[in-house]
Amino acid sequence: MSIFSDVEEAQPIEVFHLVKVFNEDDDPSKVNLTIGAYRTDEGKPYYIPVVKKAESVVLDGTLNHEYLPILGLESFTKAASQLLLGDITQRQEEGTIFGVQSISGSGALRVGAEFLVKHLKCTTFYYSIPTWENHHLIFMTSGFQNAKTYRYWNEETRSLDFDGFCEDLSNAPENAVIILHGCAHNPTGLDPTEDQWKKIAEIIKEHKLIPFFDNAYQGFASGDLEKDAWSVRYFLSQGFEFLCSQSFAKNYGLYNERAGNLTFVLNSVENVKAVKSQVTMIVRGMYSNPPNHGARTVSTILNNDVLKNEWMNTLKLMTDRIKAMRKSLRENLENLGTIGTWNHITDQTGMFSYTGLSASHVEYLRSKYHIYMLRSGRINICGLNTNNINYVAEAITDTLL
Ligand code: PLP
Repeated sequence: MSIFSDVEEAQPIEVFHLVKVFNEDDDPSKVNLTIGAYRTDEGKPYYIPVVKKAESVVLDGTLNHEYLPILGLESFTKAASQLLLGDITQRQEEGTIFGVQSISGSGALRVGAEFLVKHLKCTTFYYSIPTWENHHLIFMTSGFQNAKTYRYWNEETRSLDFDGFCEDLSNAPENAVIILHGCAHNPTGLDPTEDQWKKIAEIIKEHKLIPFFDNAYQGFASGDLEKDAWSVRYFLSQGFEFLCSQSFAKNYGLYNERAGNLTFVLNSVENVKAVKSQVTMIVRGMYSNPPNHGARTVSTILNNDVLKNEWMNTLKLMTDRIKAMRKSLRENLENLGTIGTWNHITDQTGMFSYTGLSASHVEYLRSKYHIYMLRSGRINICGLNTNNINYVAEAITDTLL
């Protein structure tokens, strides 16, 4: 007998499970298009040079390992919220915009969601169909009771189902939390246009819904940090109160350092003290205190114009490579006469492409060609490079015959 006898085994997490299977696969032509991490044209993880430089500053021997404040390193949270929202120093000084350091983007969502349940009495949240698969788990674990969805991907046209999106939002009950991808939507790579964002904001305002932006890919949609922040900044300009999570996993390549930020935007100075104190209690009860290294590294870069410039140039190079791979995949498929239309590959932005391949196509590609992608047909474009792109295009062509 064991006290653990009745524990049921959970399903494996698809993306991490696939990475494990991929690593165990000894076929020389294998291709990993699963996990959302940047790869160089040599198929290698990218240790961004300016991050390495900043780390040498962080590790210069003058730091100790004392606790950070519960809400995190202020030079980091301030700079991170500014990166997101632009010139907000006055709001930061009065306190109506503040950041909370988090365990990367996931941790920001988790703390924010628990705050919304406990202190704004939220019970219902909405996420796009499809979305990053962890949204559901994070929000349910935080105490939300109703998980609802809004339409997003139109399977037939392989584009945004904007009418469906608006209709579902319009039917949401007051105080429902709406998870919005700030840019580079995962997994579809489709973002609303500026006019569409305006309409979304209008509906959210009219129906008294609460926007919760998830910004895990700032810089990865267009290569331009400002452009990628347009949606969130628009909501700010319209006087919304909202939350926004930020991840520095992707745009700094700091996946395992868990550097993230949760920005609160409030309308009244009067509520700041209470809100901050309650977020402090949530963090205290969840993990007590944030880690130092990733946040200090990001802060070192964001607070130094020379390093920040170098980082922005690198981001541009990374997104240029992604765009080149999109173009090349589409061209390859079209030149091979592959069944179907392939303009969606270049219409989409960010790291991911929602290919439109079915689960059985995905299975065929894995078993016959050792090409790995999510069951949904989502591929990480960064996994493509000049050495494997022809192979992948030919394999897709064969799969669709
Ligand atoms: N949000 C989205 C849409 C994501 O795709 C991810 C990562 O894949 C995250 C949030 C959070 O990632 P992390 O916790 O690694 O920062």
